[in-house]
Formats: sequence, structure tokens, C-alpha cells
Amino acid sequence: MSIFQMTRTVIRNLTGGPATRQYPAVPARTSALTRGHVAFDPSTCRSCGLCSRRCPCVAIRLDKEAKVWEIDRMRCIACGDCVEGCPFGSLTMEQTYLPPVVEQRAAERYTITYVKPEKPAKKPAEEGAGA
Ligand code: SF4
Ligand code: SF4
Repeated sequence: MSIFQMTRTVIRNLTGGPATRQYPAVPARTSALTRGHVAFDPSTCRSCGLCSRRCPCVAIRLDKEAKVWEIDRMRCIACGDCVEGCPFGSLTMEQTYLPPVVEQRAAERYTITYVKPEKPAKKPAEEGAGA
């Protein structure tokens, strides 16, 4: 870096504002690639458990019997692995950030509401079919 470039950088840093933002007072900037937080849709989750097995931070807990799905936001690093791995599209990566966590909270808990559709009744064999 030449002395001219260095001087310009120093002056810009001295005269410009802070490089950081006063988040959350000033909203964070987001883009299409921002990983804000994981959102869960209890109406499509089929309790397969892939998300909890893929999570590197053990942030997701699933109780198949009780139909309970939980996420611990204090553990989640928004890597997106669970979102990529969910075969039913029940997880999405939202671009918005949740409010900062300032105290230890219990994991966010959802009751899975997905109901397996009934199999269509078999049609009675048509009379005389194949006779
Ligand atoms: S985004 Fe990553 S860390 Fe967060 S719950 Fe999903 S897999 Fe776990
Ligand atoms: S959120 Fe997706 S991957 Fe996780 S248990 Fe439900 S269906 Fe399976």
C-alpha cells in the first residue's frame, strides 16, 4: 500500500462514522443470502427427525411420541443444514433476525399438527370385471 493510499484510508476512517451499526436500535442490513433465523411449519413436519440428526449444534430436539419439535436459539448458529435437509419443506431460513437473546430461555417449542391423510378406500371390484 502506497503512502498516498494509506493516508487516504486514515483520513477516511478519522472523518467517517463508525464502521459498525448500533443494532438493534438501527436495523441490520440484509441481502437475499442473509441467514436470519430458522422458521418451522408444524403443519407439514412429519417427525422424520432428519433436522435434529443433521444439526451440528444439537439445537433441535424432536419428541415423536409427544409430537413436539423444539429449537434452542441459544445454540443455533443459523448454518442452514436443517433447512437443506428437511425433505418436506417444513423449515425455512428467514432473512430477518430475531431480537437479541439477553437471558437464558427455554427452547422454543412447537406442537406438530401434521395429520397423515387417510388412504383412499379401495374401490369395490367391478361386477363381472375380467369374467
Ligand atoms: S440452522 Fe444449523 S445450527 Fe441452527 S438448528 Fe439448523 S442445523 Fe442446527
Ligand atoms: S422439520 Fe423436516 S426434517 Fe425435521 S422432523 Fe420435521 S419433516 Fe423431518
